Amino acid sequence: MVFGFGRKKKFEFQCSSIGMNCGFEIKNASTEDELMEILKIHAKKAHGLNEIPQDVINKIRQNIKKV
Ligand SMILES: [Zn+2]
Repeated sequence: MVFGFGRKKKFEFQCSSIGMNCGFEIKNASTEDELMEILKIHAKKAHGLNEIPQDVINKIRQNIKKV
């Protein structure tokens, strides 16, 4: 995906934005896919989720901020 010249968008996400009692946040991911990869590792370590359920993935995608 191309965002134009020079200024690149960054992707941010906070666990608390999907109702998790968790202070984890991701900042400065370059792509949504990169953010999801980081989040999968976090979900496994912090939330004991080997796989993130599809409905949670949908929620996450709705709450990703592009800055
Ligand atoms: Zn979390």
